[in-house]
Amino acid sequence: MNIKKSEYLLEPADIIWNNLNPYSRQYRDIYGQKNDFFQEKLNVFVEPFTKCVKDIPSNSQVTVCELGLGFGINLLLTADFWKSMPKSSRLNFISIEKHPVKQADLKKMLRFFKADNKDQFIANYPINFRGHHTIWIQKNVKILIVLDDVASALSNLDAKVDYWFLDGFSPAKNECMWDNQVFKKIRTLSRPGAKALTYSAAGKVKLNLENNGFKTKKTPGFGKKTEMLTGYLDEKWLPATVTETDFTIIGAGLAGLFCAEALSRRNIEPAIIDMGTAGPSFIPQLSVFPLLAKTAEPQYRMSLAANEYMESAPGFFRTGLTSVPDTEKEQKRLKIICNLLPDSLMVETKENHFHFPRAGWFSTKAFEKELNLEKKQVNITKLESEGAWNGYSDNEKVFSSQNLILATGSNLELLPDQLEIRKIKGQAISVDTSGLNRVTNSLVTIFPTVKGKSVVSGTYENSSALQISPENTKVLHENAEALLGRSLKIRKEWVGLRASSRDRLPIVGQAPQWAALQKTQRVRDIKFYEPGLYYCLAFGSRGATHARLYSEHLISKILGEPCALGKIEQAILSPARFFIRNQVRC
Ligand SMILES: Cc1cc2nc3c(=O)[nH]c(=O)nc-3n(C[C@H](O)[C@H](O)[C@H](O)COP(=O)(O)OP(=O)(O)OC[C@H]3O[C@@H](n4cnc5c(N)ncnc54)[C@H](O)[C@@H]3O)c2cc1C
Repeated sequence: MNIKKSEYLLEPADIIWNNLNPYSRQYRDIYGQKNDFFQEKLNVFVEPFTKCVKDIPSNSQVTVCELGLGFGINLLLTADFWKSMPKSSRLNFISIEKHPVKQADLKKMLRFFKADNKDQFIANYPINFRGHHTIWIQKNVKILIVLDDVASALSNLDAKVDYWFLDGFSPAKNECMWDNQVFKKIRTLSRPGAKALTYSAAGKVKLNLENNGFKTKKTPGFGKKTEMLTGYLDEKWLPATVTETDFTIIGAGLAGLFCAEALSRRNIEPAIIDMGTAGPSFIPQLSVFPLLAKTAEPQYRMSLAANEYMESAPGFFRTGLTSVPDTEKEQKRLKIICNLLPDSLMVETKENHFHFPRAGWFSTKAFEKELNLEKKQVNITKLESEGAWNGYSDNEKVFSSQNLILATGSNLELLPDQLEIRKIKGQAISVDTSGLNRVTNSLVTIFPTVKGKSVVSGTYENSSALQISPENTKVLHENAEALLGRSLKIRKEWVGLRASSRDRLPIVGQAPQWAALQKTQRVRDIKFYEPGLYYCLAFGSRGATHARLYSEHLISKILGEPCALGKIEQAILSPARFFIRNQVRC
């Protein structure tokens, strides 16, 4: 793989192999004890952990945070153990890594490792760009890999941790990992009674644990190590329990369906209500590719993560997408971005186009079929809160629910003006094609041939009139013919409304109490939220790329799990951001 350096990417682990024993050139240290690698992980981390959690009550969730993913051995062993746990108990495994190992090294290491979930892990192993990567390797085991420097990763992490696996390179070789600042953050993120396990018995580690409120205990070490440390907060530890199970989602477009998927993964069946007029989510082919810029700001990195998360979605077709720049300026912009990313994400073709090998297209219909959830067809016209959220259609009560997610797309009737959502009209057509095998994106987007047809889409109009305009059809048709260099017969037309926010980024999170926001200057200072009310909205022209990860994030946040997005990214999507910005400006 041709790795190009940038802020998007982290430097991968530089490994020297001594038979099957990896050695890090960056840290001048071994990854584990020679020839006893797996046994050491079991002995130091996994077995002590399993002893403590094996009898937890059903409906519990336990969160482990490992510093130093390495080859994912702790993660795989812990997940493997979790198969023996009741289906209703969930494991959240966070792992932080600054120098992720390359896939080839990962495969080499895991070649002789026996764990059922190893292939799933290798297949979903993230590309080395900075940020949060969510992976499911078993139904009740969620993996959150945070690729970043440990201090930034912990600062941005939104999680409450029960067990810390401190498995970085040795304190003498990797001082930053064992710094007091890191232990301060560990303490802040710990649940009452949390434990820290480590192979190290270094004085600095003991001191930093104790300085931050952990009691410590030395026990016999593994192999060549005479001792190892355990730290614990001297309080009773009880696992978190999952209490929120009553959910209603209004809107069964991409956003609503992905929220439903995230809930059903956790064995929660939400009630889904839709008025029945299929929104733009049901245009048969929607492009999936990341929103990128020349600077690796968080909104672009999380778009990459969202694209990555889509790859495992039923209904996603990884055909690749080729961007054909229509201006010199766009050509230059894409070239700069391309130079920042590895070829596996973006590569310049010999025609000077830009290809995204991991992109593709999505069929909401195929996804919905796979999800197989029941929808209730009603137009909700009024909401009221009386302990629970009640929804009405023409004054007739339709539902009452503790948790309500509004995923209503461009229908703004139930939404407050403070969200500042506007409607952008768009059209699509389908045309006869043959043999198109990738998405092509230029002035219009042309999709691969399915049953002799391709969707062509890409008009943008500041309008909320849901009528097909012949001029827009003409634009789509002519541009598609110009791009493919042949005449095309139109078979079908669609018109739809995109919901777009003021900064064109989605709106995802709990509804704030607007009246209580008057003096709030920053999103992170918001104190008062509407209990049980959430928004998953404003996906603009990128719903198929972003809605799955951001919905997964919303559900993880509601259920008190480690969040799929960091605190910075959450602020970027906050429903209160425009209100606060307006206020700060005044
Ligand atoms: C022409 C066109 C082409 C596009 N192409 C792409 C593309 O290639 N790639 C891409 O990523 N995105 C594309 N988009 C944008 C994409 O379609 C949206 O981002 C996405 O569909 C938004 O999903 P959603 O679930 O938020 O909204 P919607 O799909 O609008 O779903 C909202 C649902 O809520 C229901 N609803 C609303 N209010 C109520 C109520 N009060 N009671 C009951 N039900 C209610 C509606 O009936 C609807 O089913 C395109 C959009 C258009 C218009």
